[in-house]
Amino acid sequence: MPGPNHPLRIIPLGGVGEIGKNMYVFEYGDEIVVIDCGLMFPDEEMFGVDLVIPDITYLRERRGNVKAFLITHAHEDHVGALPYVLPEFPGVPVYASTLARGLLGNKIKEHKLHNNPLIAMEPGDELQIGPFGVLTFRIGHSIPDAMGIALRTPVGTVVHTGDFKFDHTPVDGKLSDFAILARLGEEGVVCLLSDSTRAENPGYTPSERTVGEAFREIMEPLEGRVIVATFASNIARLQQVLDAAATFERQVAIIGRSMEQNSRIATELGYLRFDPSRLVGKDRINDVPDDKLVIATTGAQGSRCPASPGWPTATTGSSRSSPGTPSSCRPARSPATRSTWRGRSTTCSRPVRTSTTTPSAVRASRVTRARKS
Ligand SMILES: [Zn+2]
Repeated sequence: MPGPNHPLRIIPLGGVGEIGKNMYVFEYGDEIVVIDCGLMFPDEEMFGVDLVIPDITYLRERRGNVKAFLITHAHEDHVGALPYVLPEFPGVPVYASTLARGLLGNKIKEHKLHNNPLIAMEPGDELQIGPFGVLTFRIGHSIPDAMGIALRTPVGTVVHTGDFKFDHTPVDGKLSDFAILARLGEEGVVCLLSDSTRAENPGYTPSERTVGEAFREIMEPLEGRVIVATFASNIARLQQVLDAAATFERQVAIIGRSMEQNSRIATELGYLRFDPSRLVGKDRINDVPDDKLVIATTGAQGSRCPASPGWPTATTGSSRSSPGTPSSCRPARSPATRSTWRGRSTTCSRPVRTSTTTPSAVRASRVTRARKS
């Protein structure tokens, strides 16, 4: 192992100053771990591009040095590029939580990625990968088992929070692990990489619980069908829909390929809890009276954009913004984006065209601060 005088390199290949494509390279000597490997959905100007993935030239040139991919949580902007990146790194393990492994299992089958072992890494776990001591900690987010990762390196500890929200009454009852965060703070942290959407706005975001209360308030007087659109991976939101539907004795139809798949896996793994008789197949929704039906389907959130300089305030937007981000609140597209077609052949029903973007800081030897909008 190299001596302690090597610099630690932290290289974002995406996810800085943009929403999506989260991917961070941590390099010490000639050993590399990668945190997350996400995609970004194209904006309306990227004609013919289905998915945008990070430019991995830096990793490709150091292929033999990559020891592991560590996944903070299973949102597409953190795992969606794995099917396109992993084939270049056969044998390199992917560490992820139970739910993330469950959801990744589908991708692995679909893209035939059987050369990369999926290894359990739950919040609170400690492991050693080359010179990196990995300590994970639970963090509140809109998908269960989200975690931050502390990397203890020969030059000090780096804390990567992943996406998070400090919610004292989370839907799944699992709080962010403030004890580990406090411990890390006492030990000393040389670099904090912190990621929380709209962190630049002053004040607090209300607890996710308030969304459940709002659902009940809205649903109670309604006599027609209720249609709720949310991101397919927002398991907590789906739980709230199921809970509200149960309160008013409505049946629930879950519609949308990803949402059906995600809800099935989350239910099998115990992350979604509901009376199975409450579900109704999409082919049977016309058998259910309107005032007894809720349809949960895939789509963007419809929340309004808080007044904030730097954010456009249009009332409509693409339905493809990243999880947790109102579609009307997308920041301007990164000028670094270029539409290089990769034309990879995949097992999808149609060819997926991807574009890569060049990280502006790819050659930075020391990154002391990285932050997303
Ligand atoms: Zn997320």
